[in-house]
Amino acid sequence: PIDLQERLKEKLLPAMTNILDDTSKLQTQVTSSATEITQLKNELERAKQVANTDELTGIPNRRGFNIIIKKLAETAKKEHTPFSIILVDIDFFKSINDKFGHLIGDSVLRYLAKQLDSETKGKDSIARIGGEEFIILLPQTEYDNALKLADSLRKKVAAFTLKVKDQDKPLKLTISAGIATYQVGEETDKLVERADKALYQAKKNGRNKVC
Ligand code: GH3
Ligand code: MG
Ligand code: MG
Repeated sequence: PIDLQERLKEKLLPAMTNILDDTSKLQTQVTSSATEITQLKNELERAKQVANTDELTGIPNRRGFNIIIKKLAETAKKEHTPFSIILVDIDFFKSINDKFGHLIGDSVLRYLAKQLDSETKGKDSIARIGGEEFIILLPQTEYDNALKLADSLRKKVAAFTLKVKDQDKPLKLTISAGIATYQVGEETDKLVERADKALYQAKKNGRNKVC
């Protein structure tokens, strides 16, 4: 009927056009929201990365270390594989700062981080967990091999003399290290505590030692 046709034209068609318009706008909004979500996700990843990284050396910090060690303990428990840690502390670092200045001290920290990085490979990780304290995490590594690695690192660091710009005095660096191997079911804090006790022993035995 004519009058129905008229009413459709007047009412229904404009209403449908509006709905189509709205849908199209909504689609644009959804697309732009999706882009924004992707950007936020990337930013979150980046923020996490920054939060877990030590600014001075570029290696994981204590937060990063906590994440790594928890994962290693889980894997070791699940797969019944060993893993060991080496806690490394620079000997008499305070006197290095006193003799050469804080900036050179910072360079020494960066230098040691690089050394640790080049001495480890594959699934091994390193972290700076305190001022002049570093840790090496060695998955699938028994005590004996951790001991060998720590001692070889200690010798390499001790054998190297660092030249400081505008200074005649060479800088000699030594480290002490404490080792602990994960015992199934133990809390990771306990593992680190045992490495710390071993480190304390190395210091007590005269430094430039591994225990
Ligand atoms: P020990 O052989 O017993 O380990 O003696 P140490 O002097 O190495 O240890 P101590 O704990 O007495 O001193 C650590 C020093 O490390 C003190 C602190 O000023 C310095 N330090 C901590 N963080 C930084 C840093 O980011 N940069 C520099 N340059 N020094 C730092
Ligand atoms: Mg020290
Ligand atoms: Mg220390």
